[in-house]
Amino acid sequence: MKVNAYAVSEPKGKLKPYTYELGTLGSEEVDIKVSYCGVCHSDLSMMNNEWGMTQYPLVPGHEIIGEVVAAGNAVKNIKIGDKVGLGWLSASCMSCQQCMEGSHHLCKNSQSTIVGRHGGFADYVRGHWSWAIPLPQAIDLSKAGPLLCGGITVFNPIILADVKPTDTVGVIGIGGLGHMAIKFLKHWGCEVIAFSSNPAKKEEILAMGATKVINSRDPKELEAIAGSLNFILNTTNVSLDWNSYLTTLAPKGRLHTVGAVLEPMAIPAFGLIGGEKTVGGSPIGSPALTKTMLEFCVRHTIYPTVEEFPMEKVNEAIEHLEKGNARFRIVLKN
Ligand code: NAP
Ligand code: ZN
Repeated sequence: MKVNAYAVSEPKGKLKPYTYELGTLGSEEVDIKVSYCGVCHSDLSMMNNEWGMTQYPLVPGHEIIGEVVAAGNAVKNIKIGDKVGLGWLSASCMSCQQCMEGSHHLCKNSQSTIVGRHGGFADYVRGHWSWAIPLPQAIDLSKAGPLLCGGITVFNPIILADVKPTDTVGVIGIGGLGHMAIKFLKHWGCEVIAFSSNPAKKEEILAMGATKVINSRDPKELEAIAGSLNFILNTTNVSLDWNSYLTTLAPKGRLHTVGAVLEPMAIPAFGLIGGEKTVGGSPIGSPALTKTMLEFCVRHTIYPTVEEFPMEKVNEAIEHLEKGNARFRIVLKN
């Protein structure tokens, strides 16, 4: 099958129409006709080879919503005609320790949708059945895409860190991931404090359910809430004053990053020792947890706040994200 896509061929390059052949469908694979695809900051980082693993030409896009149009003869769980979502991973080995215990997202032999293969800025995409997540019937397809990467990335830490409804939590960076984190944590029952570097976002952030917005780059403002947070989720990819963030944690609190901070994070040992504090990180989440999250979203009507662009305007969409103007997640529509 021929795929019509948009690909970039060098760092800082523009996306251009690009066609490629999918080849023979594997017995455990499905082809998905793409209806919507979210734009994640990781697409931008991959386009510019910021992580040193980009293979050009690259078709970005890993927040995919679509319909199964072909299925190999060993595909389980889904069938032609099903609406599915495909996120950062599109295959895992299904037999290693991690896959066997349900942590397919930690499989060493997993395949990322846009690393060494082509993603969802296209009319079709292929993946292993295990990562083509069946969507709840009632879900709004036009807004669900960002849940498949950004959403599960901020949902998984809530489970991992055992965040309680009685907790007071912080979210750093209110972009695509951060704004979804606020919505999840609010519905979880937590009091949510937002850390943002952009004062213009304040009213919208409060409307999402945060009780306070603090300047993420001002240690003085952080001092004012010292010792109050049980959990902080960082979604930025920049270096911040991490020690000041540690001081905002209550004893036994955790600073958890999902943002791909490029520089080493400076964490002073004494910032951790006294209060039994921890620092951690995580990638996306398992297929099972992704499905659970989608059901939670439908139950509580939790959706990302999206701006829709037609797929043909993908370069405008990327520029919009790059300038920090996205409010709060861009979705491309085919
Ligand atoms: P995004 O929409 O661009 O949001 C990032 C936010 O970070 C911005 O909206 C901004 O929030 C804040 N920020 C940016 N530059 C800043 C600066 N100089 N100082 C302070 N704050 C700054 O990006 P995203 O799609 O949410 O992705 C966020 C990060 O998560 C990226 O590194 C991405 O690669 C990573 N990611 C990781 C995973 C994973 O599996 N762990 C999955 C998906 C994405 P304010 O305007 O509120 O300050
Ligand atoms: Zn992503």
